[in-house]
Amino acid sequence: MSVAKKRTHHGHGNTNGSEHSDVHGEVMRRFIKHDQRYTSQRRLIVTVLTASDRPLMIQQMLKRSSSTKKVLAQSSLYRNLVVLEDVGVVQRIFSTDDVARYELNEDILGHHHHLVCSKCGDIRDVRIPESLESSLDSTLAKIAKRSGFQLDQHRLDLIGRCGKCA
Ligand SMILES: [Zn+2]
Ligand SMILES: [Zn+2]
Repeated sequence: MSVAKKRTHHGHGNTNGSEHSDVHGEVMRRFIKHDQRYTSQRRLIVTVLTASDRPLMIQQMLKRSSSTKKVLAQSSLYRNLVVLEDVGVVQRIFSTDDVARYELNEDILGHHHHLVCSKCGDIRDVRIPESLESSLDSTLAKIAKRSGFQLDQHRLDLIGRCGKCA
């Protein structure tokens, strides 16, 4: 059952990137469910994160939003991120440098993995072939079962040095 659910997530991943309106629609549903307002500032955060190929630090979010017409207010960014986390839209990602980075929840963004630079802490999203995901899932499910563990999902980070630090 959970595999079928997982498949859909993978499917989302394949079409991710160009379908911003879908993302905002899904985000809106979560805001309504939590009785919170999807304000223009929150929408701008989601737009910046949707367009990114990696989890973003606060400073990166501010920089990227400055290229759009609206401006992200630094004063309210932390508070808005807390709300976005609460309604299940954004999650915090920690890297090797202890600086918090943020990305859209995986069930919105699509399943993916991270390339983590152990030198500068930068993280890049990476997708691996569906066939490899499937064999990963079945092998990991067996390993989990042996420990009496119900597997819902997996996380797999690739640690090394990025192009700039190599
Ligand atoms: Zn690096
Ligand atoms: Zn995976």
